Amino acid sequence: MRALVKYAAGKGNVGIREMPVRQPEDDELLIKIKYCGICGTDLHIEADEYPNTPPVIMGHEYCGTIVKVGAKAAAQWKEGERVVGELHTGACGKCRLCLAGKPHICDSKLALGSKYNGAFAEYLTLPARWAHRIPDGVSWEVAGVTEPFAITSHCLRERGHISDCDSVLITGSATMGLMSTILCGYLDVRNIIVSGTAVDCEQRFPLALNLGATRVVDVTSENLADVVNQVTDGNGVDGWIECSGSAAAINSGINIVRKTGQMVLIGLVGPAAIPVLWNQLLYKELDLFACFSSPPSSWEKALAVEPALAGKLRQLVTQIIPLAAWEQGFGAMRQGTAVKILVDLEA
Ligand SMILES: [Zn+2]
Ligand SMILES: [Zn+2]
Repeated sequence: MRALVKYAAGKGNVGIREMPVRQPEDDELLIKIKYCGICGTDLHIEADEYPNTPPVIMGHEYCGTIVKVGAKAAAQWKEGERVVGELHTGACGKCRLCLAGKPHICDSKLALGSKYNGAFAEYLTLPARWAHRIPDGVSWEVAGVTEPFAITSHCLRERGHISDCDSVLITGSATMGLMSTILCGYLDVRNIIVSGTAVDCEQRFPLALNLGATRVVDVTSENLADVVNQVTDGNGVDGWIECSGSAAAINSGINIVRKTGQMVLIGLVGPAAIPVLWNQLLYKELDLFACFSSPPSSWEKALAVEPALAGKLRQLVTQIIPLAAWEQGFGAMRQGTAVKILVDLEA
């Protein structure tokens, strides 16, 4: 089968290769992949800025159809079912974290798409425990963004308690910022302020407004603190969702969120340590929720609301490309000219 492979360590070393289809073990499923989304993590793997063990098939945001079921998995799964799946392959199932429902941060995890063969391929062989059924009526395009939506659900509903907020600031307007916008709307947040920079004005800000943002702010032309004060009668926002990974945005958020407010931290910063207004966290008694990845519970939450939010989630998919065009796809992600790009493995 054709697959996009990180074939050697170091910068670059990514290309389409012919790879064998691994037959499923007793507790595994063979999935014919429909779509696999390009994620920022894939760009970091290509640039060798994210841990990976080549040769490995990349891609972790996938959906597809079961074409073969291992003997033990047959009690729960059958051929022809449409599924999405988690990327927490290798998680041990026995440690304190796994037993607490947090295999996404298990020390033994070998993440699918970076340390375990992933889904930029025609077929994926997956331990059945990581699969989830796609709800009836949800399109492939919407199913294709389930993984980032599960992360958003974890961050806003399991770590943070964004449903308690009347006003929220979202710093950063790429996929995670826009998904947070959609979910804040679903959680009945009244004021949803999304900030970004001049590059967001053409595509991402109009999209944010379509998805439920009540105000967008280009911080290169407007003062974010002034806008927030205006919208919240000088109180500051109840919740702040950090999706940018920018040191400047992080410190402006700390200044803007109200006393006793929530900080939901999603965006990773670069490898270098960044200065933070630490005392403000204490003076304001802020609740800080640092978030990473997507435990199984968050997949259930995401899939349960996908039918209701399908129309909005679909708008995040701005391009669908064949595998052969992967380099253009990676380039568009780097330049910020696309929100979510799905690779069609059947094209
Ligand atoms: Zn991802
Ligand atoms: Zn474990």
